[in-house]
Amino acid sequence: MKLLCVLWVLCGLSSLLPALDREAFTVAKYDLEVRLEPKQQRLGARGKITLRNDSTHPQKIAALQISSSLDWRSIRVDGKVVQFVSQPYVSDIDHTGALSEAIVTLPAEIKPRDSVELEIGYEGVIPLDTTRLTRIGVPEEIAKHSSWDQISPSFTAVRGAGYVAWYPIATEAADFSEGNSLFEVVDRWKAREAGSQFTARVGMDRESEETPPLVICTSARESLMEQTGRAQRTSAECQWGRLGTVTPTFAMARYDNWLKSPLNLLSLPGHEEGAATYSKALEPAAKFVSGWFGTPSAPIAIADFADPNAAPFESGTLLMASMAAEDSKLAGINLVHELVHSAVPSSRPWVYEGLAHFAEAMYRQQQGGRQAALDFLGLHRAAFLDAEKDLAVAPQNGAQKNAGQPLATTFDETYYRSKAAYVWWMLRDMVGDDALKQAIGKYRADDDKDPKYVEQLIETAAKRDLGWFFDDWVYQDCGLPDFRVLSAHPWKTEKDVQFITVTLENLGKAGAEVPFTIRFDGGEITKRIEVRGKSTATMRVELAGVASEIVVNDGSVPESDLTNNVFKISGP
Ligand SMILES: [Zn+2]
Repeated sequence: MKLLCVLWVLCGLSSLLPALDREAFTVAKYDLEVRLEPKQQRLGARGKITLRNDSTHPQKIAALQISSSLDWRSIRVDGKVVQFVSQPYVSDIDHTGALSEAIVTLPAEIKPRDSVELEIGYEGVIPLDTTRLTRIGVPEEIAKHSSWDQISPSFTAVRGAGYVAWYPIATEAADFSEGNSLFEVVDRWKAREAGSQFTARVGMDRESEETPPLVICTSARESLMEQTGRAQRTSAECQWGRLGTVTPTFAMARYDNWLKSPLNLLSLPGHEEGAATYSKALEPAAKFVSGWFGTPSAPIAIADFADPNAAPFESGTLLMASMAAEDSKLAGINLVHELVHSAVPSSRPWVYEGLAHFAEAMYRQQQGGRQAALDFLGLHRAAFLDAEKDLAVAPQNGAQKNAGQPLATTFDETYYRSKAAYVWWMLRDMVGDDALKQAIGKYRADDDKDPKYVEQLIETAAKRDLGWFFDDWVYQDCGLPDFRVLSAHPWKTEKDVQFITVTLENLGKAGAEVPFTIRFDGGEITKRIEVRGKSTATMRVELAGVASEIVVNDGSVPESDLTNNVFKISGP
């Protein structure tokens, strides 16, 4: 009887213990001192982090995770050591495919929305590691060009959450092999951290006569050199804001530094020609960007890779891209992208990245015409087409209803980069260059608080109601439109003037203003028409000849199905 009683109490108690909620806490503030020892590939960090309870329940246990190649050394609250259990936690959010997790028992329960400051210390190594890619079958030779993060004597570059957890995070396990699991976990983390502050002093001490390496984090302007006797300290004061679109990243190498405001070009020895390509491309790119987006507000940096095949990466106004080859087209596009970031800072990913990719497309148009720009956008369409198709077939009544990814709130790259680029392009086609330039010129990140702020700026400049368009493309994810010609009736007036009445149907749920071209003997004419979702629209067009064919959409509106866009008109 006694035993039963004890068992009952134990079971009763254990059912009262809440399951560990790894995503209850968000790190609202980081203030870290990071010491690098490249020869040993080592990193040692200490500092303070502020945890905010974002869950709806009081929390006494916090899970803090760093890369599995790092170890927790100490965790304190108010100067007192707190208990924690360190354990490995399998997750593909880190390049090693695992994390070192500290399960921390806090001195007191933290109420929802309340915060606690922790003093932390951790250290270990960050060598090149392709585990999470090779274990799903990516050959090592290929994996190392995308999983390039490492600390090494010749070249150091380390990206943050989603690549290497070199600072503490708090996430559920992510799995590369399970569809979107990794991206969903990373997107969730970015959304939670979107308003967090991050400062870190990253540096190394050395005793040597040779040129010290340069440490960079956002724009390389923050790199410092201090000399005390023979001892040198090279470091950078890193400050990252807008963590939703910026991944805390640092690099250290013996860079040649070429500076011409606002660009800081960091190239490695042997890549002088590639660097020269960038410096030549700066002036035309800067001229184009200032004409559309205003003058840059902050320096930008483009930094070289030791591995010429390393996949490029950007974080805020820092772009890492190999300068081993001379590619003037690519250099121009890369510069345009970063200059737009500098000219139009924003916490909204679809504004920040969408505008930068839209600018790339417009720059392509300036160099190679509208078709070149639409081909360029076409490459982006592939990125989100599948996801939008899933949306179209998602069950409407089931519990698993897919609400899609509204641009206004998404942290999914394919949406805030690729789909957003199209949305800006469509807006430009609808309201014209002058109105859109005017709206962008008035945009201020600090004023962008209301979700309808961007819509209002453009509507004011264009004097046109765009509520329906923003509803379908920005505030909700309605999937993509699908246009076809429903009917075409050629006719003639008594005075023998040729007309055609064209009715377009949109089978999709998202409305758009779409161009259509009527081909007739002797020429063609293009008109634009607004066709709302699941609707039709009709237009009468005067022609200088007998119509033979109608083609809907020149590629400027992303559609789910492009196979039904040509309509042949049979003769009388
Ligand atoms: Zn960007």
